[in-house]
Amino acid sequence: MEKKNIDWSNLGFSYMETDKRYVSNYKDGAWDEGTLTTDANVVLNECACVFQYAQTCFEGLKAYTTEDGHIVTFRPDLNAQRMATTAERLKMPVFPEDRFVDAVHKVVEANAAYVPPYGSGATLYIRPYMFGSNPVIGVKPADEYQFRVFTTPVGPYFKGGVKPITIRVCDYDRAAPHGTGHVKAGLNYAMSLYAIVDAHEKGYDENMYLDSATRTKVEETGGANFLFVTKDNTVVTPKSPTILPSITRRSLLYVAEHYLGLKTEEREVYMDEVKDFAECGLCGTAAVISPVGKIVDHGKEICFPSGMEKMGPTIQKLYDTLTGIQMGHIEAPEGWIHRIC
Ligand SMILES: *Cc1c(COP(=O)(O)O)cnc(C)c1O
Repeated sequence: MEKKNIDWSNLGFSYMETDKRYVSNYKDGAWDEGTLTTDANVVLNECACVFQYAQTCFEGLKAYTTEDGHIVTFRPDLNAQRMATTAERLKMPVFPEDRFVDAVHKVVEANAAYVPPYGSGATLYIRPYMFGSNPVIGVKPADEYQFRVFTTPVGPYFKGGVKPITIRVCDYDRAAPHGTGHVKAGLNYAMSLYAIVDAHEKGYDENMYLDSATRTKVEETGGANFLFVTKDNTVVTPKSPTILPSITRRSLLYVAEHYLGLKTEEREVYMDEVKDFAECGLCGTAAVISPVGKIVDHGKEICFPSGMEKMGPTIQKLYDTLTGIQMGHIEAPEGWIHRIC
């Protein structure tokens, strides 16, 4: 298979249309058989539920070329599972989990020419999503839905080397108790846009959201979970029912325990204790771990000992081990790597 003529190392994180995408429609209580199509556009009625009441959700994962030349995805079954949980919360029909994994497989295979080569640092980003597609004007769930998966090649997250970021404690909330913070609903992102634009305007890279009930506990950023390392090298991640369960974060905790022999804790993390940690990072599919050098809490600065030049030593080890597993030079736990071709 001949690769497309793309300058892989200069790709950013933006949409590029690829050859094929997967579409399946839900009508009269059932999903159709689904198909690959070349048509990148979606045409819907003006009153489609997704436009009026934001009944939509999504997932995000990546396909990589491993050192020995295979194209693989990382734990797509967990994305399938999470989308099922999200769909239930939004009163959408679940797209069967085995069919989700199969759809991802088919789309990546059909766009293999767009999967960046090993060593480029670039990857093929995969976006499964679903929306209510029939006209709905009285507030209720749609009766018809569309499930789609498209792909787009994206560049290395850390272009020109890793740079720790500066984040601020945010006065806006991301998720309410008993709300939708734990599911990947588009609406969680719509209402975070104001806060992230405001953060960028004020010179911060990201928002740190606290629990909205007490504003004393660390939750997450708009699109990544926190990971902290204590001074005696325990890996700590915040636990809360309003945090989105990051697959990267769950995988890193496993790596910490089973590959690096570190102690791990998933527990409530109070803002008051953040100053005592040695390292801080943000976990998500996009960057795996993005190191945080500084947190600004209403003028008060927390500067981590790892500094603003490089990742802290433990976060670096976690990063190297997980990316090593993904790229195929470290043996993966059973079932983590899904081989496409
Ligand atoms: C998608 C997402 C993450 C990261 O999850 P991964 O499965 O690791 O990519 C974290 N927080 C939020 C709010 C998200 O939407």
